[in-house]
Amino acid sequence: MIIARTLAELNEARNALGPVGFVPTMGALHEGHLALVDAAKAGGLPVAASIFVNPTQFGPKEDLARYPRDEAGDLAKLEGAGCALVWLPGVHVMYPPHGTTMIHVNGPATHWEGASRPGHFAGVATVVAKLFGQMRPESAYFGEKDWQQIQVVRRMVADLHLPVRIVPVPTRREPSGLALSSRNAYLTPEEHRAAPALHAALLHAAREIVAGKEVAATLHHARHEVAQAGLVPDYIALVHAETLEPISGLIRPARLIAAAKLGHVRLLDNIPVG
Ligand code: AMP
Repeated sequence: MIIARTLAELNEARNALGPVGFVPTMGALHEGHLALVDAAKAGGLPVAASIFVNPTQFGPKEDLARYPRDEAGDLAKLEGAGCALVWLPGVHVMYPPHGTTMIHVNGPATHWEGASRPGHFAGVATVVAKLFGQMRPESAYFGEKDWQQIQVVRRMVADLHLPVRIVPVPTRREPSGLALSSRNAYLTPEEHRAAPALHAALLHAAREIVAGKEVAATLHHARHEVAQAGLVPDYIALVHAETLEPISGLIRPARLIAAAKLGHVRLLDNIPVG
């Protein structure tokens, strides 16, 4: 496995490998990330991953400084998973000191995570565009766990005519239903036991909506279920799966999306409906 830390090293590796399937990450890797590597391998091209904790997608009061980092462990996992190349840019490579350009996002970035975390998706779109420019992948693999992120990236790729195929990969979960996340490491054992309530509430709500129950009442009940379990719901919403606009009845494609606080941890989840 080639490890590139400078643009020169990355270019050399890219020229040697030819077209790649790309898996961008922020490290602290778990089985969810490795599912992306597996999907990329199934795509048939050599797999390149990146590890970069992107400062521009964190708010001033968020967990950038204490975001979990484990470079040696991550590299061992990527090598074990069959990655051909890992790109490890420093902050000054990614954001040159005189750089001034950021991508402005709208549409699917407007609500939900976009409203709760101002600037988050501009940071995501900017770093993903930079990574695509550096890596020039044929395809890039993103987890459905961050459903809104996939729609923002898809919109950006279409709007900027970037020559890359975006491939969504289903969410990897614990047997309890809890979506795997690097931030789950912050949960206390007690919080970890409460956390699956978010996914359970989504499954219940999806069944009710498909059965014809009124959407507003169902979402209200889901928020109540989540709160009963000790989580603080931020949003639980039925949305158009691509535009992320809220919908009041079941039109397709529809997605139930949710975020809730548990202690210091923000949990995200989403599932298809119908
Ligand atoms: P992160 O390192 O959290 O920025 O995530 C890097 C990529 O891994 C993103 O495309 C995430 O959506 C994806 N990812 C994170 N958790 C999971 C999971 N549980 N299942 C599938 N993909 C995931």
